[in-house]
Amino acid sequence: MAELEAVIGLEIHVQLATKTKMFCGCELSFGDEPNVHTCPVCLAHPGVLPVPNEQAILYALQIAAALECEVAPRSIFHRKNYFYPDNPKAYQISQYDIPLASNGRLGEIRIHRAHLEEDAAKMIHVGESGRIHGSGASLVDFNRGGTPLVEIVTEPDLRGAAEAAEWARLLRETVRQLGVSDVNMEEGSLRVDANVSVRPAGSEELGTKTELKNMNSFRFLQRGVEAELERQRELIAAGGTVEQETLHFDPQSGSLTSLRSKEEAHDYRYFPEPDLVPLAPTEEMLRDAREALPELPAVRIERYVGDGLARDVATVLATDPETADYFERAATAASGVEAKTVAIWVTGELAAALRQADSETGAAGSKVSPESLAALVALVQGKKISHGSGKTVLAALVAEGGDPAAIVEREGLAGMSSEDGELESIVAAAVEANPEAAEQIKAGNGKAIGAIVGAVMRETKGRADGGEVTRLIRSQLGL
Ligand SMILES: [Zn+2]
Repeated sequence: MAELEAVIGLEIHVQLATKTKMFCGCELSFGDEPNVHTCPVCLAHPGVLPVPNEQAILYALQIAAALECEVAPRSIFHRKNYFYPDNPKAYQISQYDIPLASNGRLGEIRIHRAHLEEDAAKMIHVGESGRIHGSGASLVDFNRGGTPLVEIVTEPDLRGAAEAAEWARLLRETVRQLGVSDVNMEEGSLRVDANVSVRPAGSEELGTKTELKNMNSFRFLQRGVEAELERQRELIAAGGTVEQETLHFDPQSGSLTSLRSKEEAHDYRYFPEPDLVPLAPTEEMLRDAREALPELPAVRIERYVGDGLARDVATVLATDPETADYFERAATAASGVEAKTVAIWVTGELAAALRQADSETGAAGSKVSPESLAALVALVQGKKISHGSGKTVLAALVAEGGDPAAIVEREGLAGMSSEDGELESIVAAAVEANPEAAEQIKAGNGKAIGAIVGAVMRETKGRADGGEVTRLIRSQLGL
């Protein structure tokens, strides 16, 4: 049988970090006492009217701009009807056939649509559930009810669980850098659903999809999608067919349970919200949204790759704007050193040195200025000091800041060049002191050189350059 490829689309709900709710003036806050942020509008008393939150619309337009979407000149709010205790109106105000934004992209993945809606209230289940006369009960906290949401729906362009999780991270970082949401997955301000199907590799048709609901971390998203892909592949291999259903992934047990099948799927009986006029952003609003965009991670990654950085290093930097700015200052200051070398020092040696020192700050908040890191990298690259000495100087910079050249001087770390003969005589002594290793090297055992290199490094306290030492040993052995 042909290999089955994964076809994955994501639906992401982003809570907007506005001061007030989508259609009323109630304050938004997380973790307050239940039901203190409510009013007749968000509790759906009779006769009240919704008033759209302008800030939420401006934030949604920024998301639309960041995702390169087309914005509808007149998008429509609809009522999505369903009956459940988290929703006092018995409908959610959402958008349906004409969403605010459509046809965008982020990186390689196309965005189908992005629309505005309001969140439901929060249900809290206590005691034993599922028993009418038991101790179980469901409580409702209406503080969250009416929070502005943007729902972002991708095209089914993702081809694997890891790719889906990585892209979702990029989306979260993009939204975070816009400053329109705190994108905290644990608190539910970013929620991810995945539509998962498989099809014979090379086919253009879509298989029957299942929907994985509400994965609250990228790791669970990846594991849930992996588990569901495996289930579908095994099912098809055994001659079965995938049924359309909604699934819950339990990260503890790794199991998938069905929440509802196609037959039980809701019919939401959408109809236009009669209490709201169409949403028609002005040219000025659209222009402001575009102009307010910072340089977004996806754009930065491509710029860095263009500058010669490896894609994974570029991604690490671009998803941390403070460190990225730090890197750019260091790269500008480092004369005669390639940007990719500076990037490796920032994401590798400096990050490790900060961890080693239990530093609570990133590179940007540390005592190592971008200019001093640049000077240090130039010393190592110019072979003025060895790489090992470079790490020693970096540890000193992390602890006390300062000028790398002065630290080299103070600690006596200046490199030993072969020109003054001192290194050559130390190498000669080390070769003589390790006759067995010398014989093994001559016999073709390349690994044996480590013993002599180690001896030289101990003698020179790491000041000698490893490559230079290796070259000298081989030359003394006549190789
Ligand atoms: Zn309210």
